[in-house]
Amino acid sequence: MIRTKEELAKMRRAGRVVAEMHEATRAAIRPGVTTAELDKVAREVLERRGARSNFLGYGHPPFPAVICASPNDMIVHGIPGDYVLEEGDIISVDCGAIIEGYHGDAAYTAPVGEVSAAARRLLEVTEASLWAGIEVMREGKRLSDIGHAVQTVAEAAGYSVVREYVGHAIGTAMHEDPQVPNYGPPGRGPKLRAGHVFAVEPMVNIGGQGTRVLEDHWGVVTADGSLSAHFEHSIAVTPDGPEVLTLP
Ligand code: MG
Ligand code: MG
Repeated sequence: MIRTKEELAKMRRAGRVVAEMHEATRAAIRPGVTTAELDKVAREVLERRGARSNFLGYGHPPFPAVICASPNDMIVHGIPGDYVLEEGDIISVDCGAIIEGYHGDAAYTAPVGEVSAAARRLLEVTEASLWAGIEVMREGKRLSDIGHAVQTVAEAAGYSVVREYVGHAIGTAMHEDPQVPNYGPPGRGPKLRAGHVFAVEPMVNIGGQGTRVLEDHWGVVTADGSLSAHFEHSIAVTPDGPEVLTLP
């Protein structure tokens, strides 16, 4: 799907709302705060900007919040609630917004107070793996070059990349085809063209790649209990290179 200039303008606006949700939730992260409070902060941004949530009511059972909040060994899809952030935790926040029918989607993982050197390194490497994937989003590259770049960075650090959950094209729906895995050989799949927009979202574990879904049917944790991080941006391929839509 090739997005027009007009469509990209709307996606840029949706992306900026997502960036603002990131800034607001980041500023609220500290020991003693619950994940439900982070959700409330993000809701206030959506209301202020007149945007709708693409997370609230998504899927079965319907997701009950506007952010996913996933602490420590939780990889993605954590339901915000009465979990109290503690000094030394890491917390992943994933959220999105819809403006005039166009979607943005992005995630980050942040430290809560002082964290271990191991946790800090996981965050640095996972974010670097996202930027390695973004860097190859240029006309003429192929879709699988993105995941290959992500995997190369994550595995060089001794970490593993989650296989069951992947990135995706994004536009008039949050999750559009094709999927964008965070692994695989380079040089496969369709050629990237200006107007393609993908949400690239590495999920990286310190331990093994295995995952387990919690009894709430949403939260996904590492099978071995190891720490996991998640970073995501929505990015357009342009004639001038990748344009990250979900930056402030
Ligand atoms: Mg997301
Ligand atoms: Mg996504």
